[in-house]
Amino acid sequence: MPTIMITGANRGIGLELVRQYAADGWEVLACCRSPENAPELKQLAAANGNISVHLLDVTNAQQRKVLAAQLKGKPIDILFNSAGVSGSWSAQGFGHCQAEEWLDVLHINVVTPMLMMQDFAANVALSERKIIANMSSKMGSIADNTSGGSYLYRSSKAALNMVNKSAAHDLARKGISVVLLHPGWVRTDMGGPNGELSVEESVTALKRNLANVTFADSGRLLDIDGSTIPW
Ligand code: NDP
Repeated sequence: MPTIMITGANRGIGLELVRQYAADGWEVLACCRSPENAPELKQLAAANGNISVHLLDVTNAQQRKVLAAQLKGKPIDILFNSAGVSGSWSAQGFGHCQAEEWLDVLHINVVTPMLMMQDFAANVALSERKIIANMSSKMGSIADNTSGGSYLYRSSKAALNMVNKSAAHDLARKGISVVLLHPGWVRTDMGGPNGELSVEESVTALKRNLANVTFADSGRLLDIDGSTIPW
């Protein structure tokens, strides 16, 4: 049974990834920072023996270390870094940006996917599929930025794209593909009610893209239809 590890698995796209991969028969390591406050995830795990729930605030070095020790030697086919924050949309227009919130967004969206890759690449290298997926966004594309604003979120995803590109080079020698995924504009707490896709539609497409990933795709930023988003 292939194994997927998902961060931010308690709600939004992360939770739907858990649901769909578990339904497909994968072993799912569902990570979230507050399992006791994750009723939907706990319910899913109770009903599906192939889901285990793990405590992981991705910014918490001690929690990452404990989990890495628990999972030492376990093959992980896909490490999916889905956890992310946008920062408050009202506080990222020109003239409104503040350092503290910006640094939080960069910490969660840029630094922690890298630390997760460092901590769990050995597990991925042991697996058959050997994929790391980092959730990016079209909003991190410089080419796609025709409207300005959203400084905190845009800069964090643009930086994540560069982190991913370097990791794709560095992990090639272990045979690991490191890809960036755009999930579409999705109706979640982050995406809001006007998003174009339901979580079900988004995750169905993300899974299709991941199923088609080959080593030649490492370093790419994949749009929801599988095409490449320009940097
Ligand atoms: P949600 O706001 O619905 O969920 C965010 C998830 O990230 C939650 O599970 C949250 O956990 C988790 N998270 C945040 N900070 C941490 C942390 N420090 N440690 C562990 N988990 C954390 O967002 P989405 O599901 O919409 O987004 C998922 C990913 O997709 C993000 O990376 C986002 O940037 C990206 N994306 C989303 C788009 C959309 O339209 N929705 C578009 C493009 C990209 P908690 O409940 O504990 O806060």
